[in-house]
Amino acid sequence: MKQNLHTHCRFCDGKDAIEDLVRTAIDKGFDSLGFSSHGYAHPLDTCSLDDEREAAYIYSVMEARIRYKDRLKIWLGIEEDLTGRIYADPAFDYVIASCHFIPTPSGEWKPVDYSPEK
Ligand SMILES: [Zn+2]
Repeated sequence: MKQNLHTHCRFCDGKDAIEDLVRTAIDKGFDSLGFSSHGYAHPLDTCSLDDEREAAYIYSVMEARIRYKDRLKIWLGIEEDLTGRIYADPAFDYVIASCHFIPTPSGEWKPVDYSPEK
C-alpha cells in the first residue's frame, strides 16, 4: 500500500493546493492520502488553522474525498501541537500529535524546527 498521512497544503504551511496534491498522489499510484494541517496553535504558530480556516480546510478535504472517491482514499487529519489546542473533533479521521515549540527557562516558547536564527 502506498500512502502518506502527513501532508500539508496551503491551509497551513504547505505550498500546494489540496487538488494538486490529490492529482499528484493519483499520478504516482498512491492508494490513499491523508491531510494533516496544523491545528490551532496561535500565537506561536501563525500559519496554524484558526476556526474559520479550519472549517474551510475540512470542507475542502471532504469535497476532494467525494470528487476523487473512485481513484484515491482521502483521509481528513490534523496535526495538533502540544502547545496548542488539543481536541478530538469527530470530523477528523486521525490526529498527529507534534511538538514544534519548547519552553525556555525564562518561560518563553522557542520553535524547534524554524530557521537556524530562531
Ligand atoms: Zn507536519
